[in-house]
Amino acid sequence: MFDQVAAKPNRIRVCIIGGGGTGAAVAYDLSLRGFSVMLLERGELTSGTTGRHHGQLHSGARYAVGDRAIARECMEEALVLRRIVPDAIEYNGGVFVAIDDEEADRAPSFIAACLESGIPAREVPVAEARSWEPAINPVARRTVWVPDGSFDAFRLPLSFFAAARDLGATIRPFTEAVGLEVSGGRARAVVAWAAGDSSEERIECDYVVSASGAWAGAVGALAGLDVPITPAPGTLVAVRSRVSDMVLSRLSLPGDGDIIVPQRGLSIIGTTQRVALDPDCLIPHDDDTAFLLARADELAPGFSSNAIHAVWSAARPLSGRAIDDGRNLSRDFMVLDHSADGVAGMATLTGGKATVLRAMAEKAADRVCSEFGIDEPCRTRNFVLPSWRDWYAEAGL
Ligand SMILES: Cc1cc2nc3c(=O)[nH]c(=O)nc-3n(C[C@H](O)[C@H](O)[C@H](O)COP(=O)(O)OP(=O)(O)OC[C@H]3O[C@@H](n4cnc5c(N)ncnc54)[C@H](O)[C@@H]3O)c2cc1C
Repeated sequence: MFDQVAAKPNRIRVCIIGGGGTGAAVAYDLSLRGFSVMLLERGELTSGTTGRHHGQLHSGARYAVGDRAIARECMEEALVLRRIVPDAIEYNGGVFVAIDDEEADRAPSFIAACLESGIPAREVPVAEARSWEPAINPVARRTVWVPDGSFDAFRLPLSFFAAARDLGATIRPFTEAVGLEVSGGRARAVVAWAAGDSSEERIECDYVVSASGAWAGAVGALAGLDVPITPAPGTLVAVRSRVSDMVLSRLSLPGDGDIIVPQRGLSIIGTTQRVALDPDCLIPHDDDTAFLLARADELAPGFSSNAIHAVWSAARPLSGRAIDDGRNLSRDFMVLDHSADGVAGMATLTGGKATVLRAMAEKAADRVCSEFGIDEPCRTRNFVLPSWRDWYAEAGL
């Protein structure tokens, strides 16, 4: 049971659409600030991109050369998550591996960019890195330690859900938002349909937060909005072996098939990137598996000899409109306030990463507070969350 006390209830009703990690963190933050929260998720909790991502707790090193601000935010948020959700995280560290001369030449600028972003990267001799992780390709030219990690994609959000519920939030899986009532230029109610019910339900609210990830376009359209969002799917391949205990990455510019993440008894190589119109029913491309396994073998020879456990795709909710494969789009997140689009009382969260879910929620909750003139600071950095086990235990499971 979460023993923290919410701020004095303010009776303002916020309906959150989307029960992934972002929605969970928004529900927790707003509940802690005294709002009356209801969250709707059309499927099982975390059944969107959240339950299907790589599970890398980004130190930000991957982004440091391209965008120091994103890198710094990842590092800061990874440290916060390590403190507040300890039982969903592995403290395993990561190694960036230069396989060829071009990658080896990047090491100094990569380390400098990491240090400028507050990430304590340091070069280690290849022999030392291979003593930690014998799977690293022996032809490696240079190796750099970074504080990457891995986390359980399901369990981490469940701790946020458990905290939100303990603070009074109503969390409703298998309940889909099928309409948004707008009148007088303001969102007034969400029309929802719960699995098994014969009729729709009208949920009156004072504010709507769309935390619907790659589905934000469809949810926005319910209110007549044109939300700038690009679903950008990527494929992941899991094999049945823990090839390394640390996260292994290529010391190249971020690209396809350049990260191996350990998850329990599995190792996951990812990812690819393309764009899709519809984030539902994503099927990996035929050549994704062979491509990813070949790339994994370059980092850790023999990776592909392990039995394949699963191959799947999930869609990143990238902010903005893509050119080609969407790599033109930033990995940063945005809170889009729709008053300028003629729908006050509604905001959409786009972009971001699972690692920064708490920061995304903080910005969204700040927006809701400012809408209603509520002066309650964010306190979600401060408290250790209930275990993911509490989510099930208190549901009587
Ligand atoms: C291949 C891949 C690998 C990634 N790897 C990493 C990684 O290693 N580390 C990292 O930090 N990030 C990673 N990410 C990014 C991360 O997965 C996402 O940023 C994050 O999961 C998005 O969470 P979300 O809650 O915003 O969206 P989602 O988890 O997609 O949640 C949105 C929810 O909204 C629900 N929904 C949609 N429409 C409705 C409706 N009408 N009514 C009710 N509910 C609705 C959906 O069912 C869904 O559950 C990866 C992404 C991809 C695609």
